[in-house]
Amino acid sequence: MSALPSNAEPRPGRLPPGIDSLPANAVEIAGLNKTYGGASGKRALIDVDLNIPRGSLFGLLGPNGAGKSTLINILAQLVNKSSGTVKVWGADLDSAPRAVAASIGVVPQELNIDPFFTPAELLDLQAGLYGVPKRERRTHEILAALGLADRANAYARTLSGGMRRRLMVAKAMVHSPPVLVLDEPTAGVDVELRQQLWAYVRELNAAGTTLLLTTHYLEEAEQLCDRIAIINHGRVIACDTTAALLRRLDRKELVFLTADDLAEVPAPLARFDAELQGPRRLLVRYQPSRTQIGEILAAVQSAGLRIVDLTTLEADLEDIFLQLTRGAHADEAGPAAVVDRRSRVGHGARE
Ligand code: ADP
Ligand code: MG
Repeated sequence: MSALPSNAEPRPGRLPPGIDSLPANAVEIAGLNKTYGGASGKRALIDVDLNIPRGSLFGLLGPNGAGKSTLINILAQLVNKSSGTVKVWGADLDSAPRAVAASIGVVPQELNIDPFFTPAELLDLQAGLYGVPKRERRTHEILAALGLADRANAYARTLSGGMRRRLMVAKAMVHSPPVLVLDEPTAGVDVELRQQLWAYVRELNAAGTTLLLTTHYLEEAEQLCDRIAIINHGRVIACDTTAALLRRLDRKELVFLTADDLAEVPAPLARFDAELQGPRRLLVRYQPSRTQIGEILAAVQSAGLRIVDLTTLEADLEDIFLQLTRGAHADEAGPAAVVDRRSRVGHGARE
């Protein structure tokens, strides 16, 4: 898989009207809501704000049912949003839907390939749909980049699962979109193909394409993405660089409510990152990788504090990550484990 078609700098003519330079964000989402089946239906997205910087390899990470595909399908104009604004490559989804479609290629979660066409025919059809003139079509270049050149004229039904998935990626690229979206590209694919797809995604990104991929594998997002947003129950609960997000995970807060007024942080707690937030409210920040919670509790005890309540903060993110990490293993255990994970996901969420 080499000789990648470069989607880095689109022709000036492809920029939406009114946009005379490349946008800072490939995708801008503000106040996005989606409720399926009318006002009383399922709230799949709730007040989502999300910016995807141009050139990034962005991971949308969340457990099953979190709302990932809903968001992707809104970008692909397969699902209508309930409210909010969406811009792709500077074009507004409401006022310039065609410009949005021209700027984005979406590889859906489900494989849907007509088995009676060949890859070359499918790509040509797709190019026709997008109005790409014949002389500008890059059918063979794209097929070659995806390792499908020697199958260009074979019926799609004879392709392996891995080849079909690559063909889906090829289809999404026929109009050279600067933004490519992959919905769970590696769900249910074997390890070898997963590695291949990862390598290809990295190559595309290095060549300048902005990539958005969804996954419920923490490991995948961690290894592949430079930025990660975590979505759960339709809400984006974190969005940061991968490094910052991982650092954030290693940070917990304990809040002690004391029975007696405190004038200052008691001496035994001074060696921790402790702060008095009120006369009876003591906050202690710590890194679980470095400090055992027992050490803090021992210090509280040696300070002779009478505790009436104790809460931990930032647990939500931790919970999600635990579920996601477990989720990756649950998948290997089979469908029963997947169902089981779904039922656990609600724990600790705000709804
Ligand atoms: P994810 O891709 O993160 O697994 P989805 O976006 O597919 O999540 O689903 C988010 C929520 O919306 C789920 O509760 C799901 O059951 C619901 N949902 C998705 N599609 C539809 C639909 N067409 N009609 C009704 N509810 C839907
Ligand atoms: Mg999905």
